Amino acid sequence: MMTITYEYEGALYVNLTNRCDCACVFCLRHNGHKGSIYADDLWLEHEPSREEALADFLARDLPSYREIVFCGFGEPIFRWEDIAWLVDELKARAPGLPPVRINTNGHGNLIHGRDITPEMAGRIDTLSISLNGATEAEYLAVTQPRDGAAAWEAMLDFTRRAARHVPKVVMTVVDKDKTPEDIQTCRALAESLGATLRVRAYIPD
Ligand code: SF4
Repeated sequence: MMTITYEYEGALYVNLTNRCDCACVFCLRHNGHKGSIYADDLWLEHEPSREEALADFLARDLPSYREIVFCGFGEPIFRWEDIAWLVDELKARAPGLPPVRINTNGHGNLIHGRDITPEMAGRIDTLSISLNGATEAEYLAVTQPRDGAAAWEAMLDFTRRAARHVPKVVMTVVDKDKTPEDIQTCRALAESLGATLRVRAYIPD
């Protein structure tokens, strides 16, 4: 059984792809896992079509969730056009739709070769972008992006642009291996881009 949507702490999480342009050192995808602390069996045998994902959504009591979160085993923004379509369909069909969040590495514009952030206006309520490092060097060492240093710049630019179109833009870092000075650097960087910083506790694999 393939998991497209699953519940976690009152929110509905959505898994649309295994694809990613990074190879983060902590990523569950290449540590031999097929699931996570959130759900088993997150490795998709095939990417669900937008229609399959919509049917999965509509089988649920959507207003009962506090949030809908596109995250997944891979980078959800690879499916941006399908996410936009799904949100439009859900808004039309499911009155009282909860706020929508995307958890992303912030490479959306790099991946799509255009600025997708204006298309998020009115669709996405929260973006949670993984900052992962206080400096470019740390970021590249941790996330190992396909496009190298361009990915760091693209992530920062994406965040700055998204903050104009999405009500809440949050950058996240994990507290492990970070000094208070590192955290302060991350916070200042996030705020300079129009985002806020959220420090997450490290969850051992
Ligand atoms: S960005 Fe996310 S999905 Fe991609 S490698 Fe890093 S942790 Fe894994």
